[in-house]
Amino acid sequence: MRTSDSISDTDHEETSFTKSSGWKIRSSKLARNTHNRIREIVESLKIEPNPEKPMIPLSIGDPTIFGNLEASVETINAVKCAIESGKYNGYAHTAGHEEARKAIVEYVAHQGPVTPNDIIICSGCSSALEICILTLADEGQNILVPRPGFCLYNTLCEGLGIEVRYYNLLPEKEWEADLEQMESLIDNNTASILINNPSNPCGSVFSKTHLQKILKLAGKYYLPIIADEIYEHFVFTGSKHIAISSLSKDVPILSCGGLTKRFLVPGWRTGWIVIHDRDNRLSDITKGLKQMAARILGSNTLVQGALPDILRNTPQSYFDGVLDILSQNAKSAYDALKDVAGLKPILPRGAMYMMVGIDIASFPSFPNDLEFVQDLVNEQSVFCLPGSCFEYPNYFRIVLTVPYEMIEEACSRISEFCEKHYKNDENLIKCDFLQPVSS
Ligand SMILES: *Cc1c(COP(=O)(O)O)cnc(C)c1O
Repeated sequence: MRTSDSISDTDHEETSFTKSSGWKIRSSKLARNTHNRIREIVESLKIEPNPEKPMIPLSIGDPTIFGNLEASVETINAVKCAIESGKYNGYAHTAGHEEARKAIVEYVAHQGPVTPNDIIICSGCSSALEICILTLADEGQNILVPRPGFCLYNTLCEGLGIEVRYYNLLPEKEWEADLEQMESLIDNNTASILINNPSNPCGSVFSKTHLQKILKLAGKYYLPIIADEIYEHFVFTGSKHIAISSLSKDVPILSCGGLTKRFLVPGWRTGWIVIHDRDNRLSDITKGLKQMAARILGSNTLVQGALPDILRNTPQSYFDGVLDILSQNAKSAYDALKDVAGLKPILPRGAMYMMVGIDIASFPSFPNDLEFVQDLVNEQSVFCLPGSCFEYPNYFRIVLTVPYEMIEEACSRISEFCEKHYKNDENLIKCDFLQPVSS
């Protein structure tokens, strides 16, 4: 059937709906401006691992891929029961099933008093972060994010014209934030301060005093805080993670967390937002967060059905076992690299990564961290992510979730590589890799 205003193959010439570009259809501005910095940098490297040495990828932030870290029996059984019950095939409330939200309330009791109404279950912690950022900021506004930091924050913002402004973390202060510089970034368009504690990529854990200072600054400028606390339970013996919400008297906190890292199920895509807003300062934002959650009609209900059992039944011994592996790897990698000339590892206190400074002036064959990591793969088949992936050049990040023997072998290859390329020339101007990069 053909009516006068229909578009068919034959009437391109005569109708006003003609597209001059034909089938050359362009993606949206949002899609075009959405980038994954890690992927782009990795793809730009010329990587040809040494065929004589088996590849050790210390780059992959998925703790399940090596097979040494597995989800607990309780976690797996909880999902089996949820499937068999037949009760979780339908849609849930867009914020998540009430029972699941109740279980999260218990699980995050240490963060401060909340009710199931303050919980939104999301498709992973990254979706929790996306919902928070998009609810708090409009195009033209800005969000303060850490440098070095997780590149997803940038990915989520830039396509929408939300500016990310980087506050520096200071390696010589165990990666505390430079609060003076942070304050200098704040203007009328600042929508929120985002903190990531414990940190990816630094493995640092903020002290109580430091968190209080951040709260004071946020309070001074009426800025809510987005707290990416996905690693809140990944803290090694001797350090303690304190939820920023537990210290806040007046500043509203949106804490983002999830199952991904602690329960070792990244593919299950289950995370949450906990809204800490004791004085109802964020009522408009809370409504907005819930409206945003409805854009995907709520998250995976099967895992929601399993969530009460997962959160209540997984034994402490399981978590302790995982942490033992991480902290042993951290210590071993730190010890192996701390005396390597030209390197400066910074001992992590939590999460599952370690940052290693490169005194790049002592490695004249490499102009920057990108070429350093590239040649490290090509000669030694050890792949680490360059600091540039985290907006922090002249460092590289290693993941600590690989089997112990792999970490040992990788570190010995890294030191061999450094020994070969290190040139201690007094005439070279040494760059002090402990200085934060300037903006
Ligand atoms: C892994 C990670 C996330 C993403 O978690 P998902 O639940 O897989 O979406 C968020 N923030 C940081 C800092 C991470 O390292």
